Amino acid sequence: MIYLEMKPDALKYHLEYISNNSPNNATCLKEKLRKERDKYIELISMSVRRTDEYRYLKKCKVLYYFLYTNIEKIATANIVEMENYEKSFSYYFPKFFEDVGEDKYIEISNNLKTLFENEYKRFSKGYSIEIDKKKKRWNAYEYIKLLRIKVCPYCNAQFTLTIHSTNVETEGGPSRAELDHFIPKNEFPIFSMSLYNLVPSCKVCNQSLKHSRKTSFSTHFNPFDTEINNQFYFSRQFKKYKKKRNKINYVDAILGETNNFEITISPKNIFNNLSLTPEEKILNKKVNNNIKLFRLKSIYNQHKDFIQENILKARIYNELYLQQLHLDFPNLIQNYDVRVLVTKEASEFQYNILSKALHDIIETEILSPKI
Ligand SMILES: [Zn+2]
Repeated sequence: MIYLEMKPDALKYHLEYISNNSPNNATCLKEKLRKERDKYIELISMSVRRTDEYRYLKKCKVLYYFLYTNIEKIATANIVEMENYEKSFSYYFPKFFEDVGEDKYIEISNNLKTLFENEYKRFSKGYSIEIDKKKKRWNAYEYIKLLRIKVCPYCNAQFTLTIHSTNVETEGGPSRAELDHFIPKNEFPIFSMSLYNLVPSCKVCNQSLKHSRKTSFSTHFNPFDTEINNQFYFSRQFKKYKKKRNKINYVDAILGETNNFEITISPKNIFNNLSLTPEEKILNKKVNNNIKLFRLKSIYNQHKDFIQENILKARIYNELYLQQLHLDFPNLIQNYDVRVLVTKEASEFQYNILSKALHDIIETEILSPKI
């Protein structure tokens, strides 16, 4: 898991898409919600007062009035706001409709699902918006392209490249990362179009690992959360050799010449579990939940060869050796910082597979070892 930065332009374009009709007169979500509210106002005017049906219709009108007036906030709510919205919706929606009877509860739930699901399907294709008096197409493909993500933020182990297509006949259609609804659209339809709930991800994480398993803003880390990179770290645990009286071959292991190690992923605060604050305990739990859900331990231990190879490179390309190369080939070797050659900074994690693991392990073992 790695941090993925939400771009202000994505929020700006999305807001326009949600709240204003397209220059080609395609109807925006806000307008659809207004029409739905008006539909209930009309149904109320035709129904008999003080009946169950009348009370039910009034509640539906209130719901759509709320959505119509708040949809811009809901569609662009940040992580903290999304967590609050998620809690409120889980609590208030069933409570508000608790006295309407089961059939009516299912009816309004399905009504919401259909409206938002159709809107999300349309977002896959999208339509034009007008930004600074210029026409621009906005859809899932443009959104992913703008985020400039090349690897899946859940696993950081699979590429999620965006591939253009100029001719569908000869080249096939364009290809892009999948968009995962961080909290499921089936249970929370009103967040189907919320950007912080739309996480670009690889097929394995979205369809195979996550599938119908639930994630929530209060129990899991969402990649748009700025805290995510600092809340866990990768390290290597060396195994003991049975034949050599349970001794660890530290020399080979540290030099990167043995793969007799395991990659571990741990929450930042793992060692002082007793003195953790409630907030730190929640963060730890979120980290562990992500590790478990996306099977990160198993995935990373299948990439040991790649990690080992890079540890070896980091050892070989030490500063002295790189300085010598720089003197011999000044045009070729301009930067002799091993960090640039072997590891990536946090801002580049989203372009490189396994970058957070390599960064953490090489940083602690080679660049700034504590022992
Ligand atoms: Zn993935």
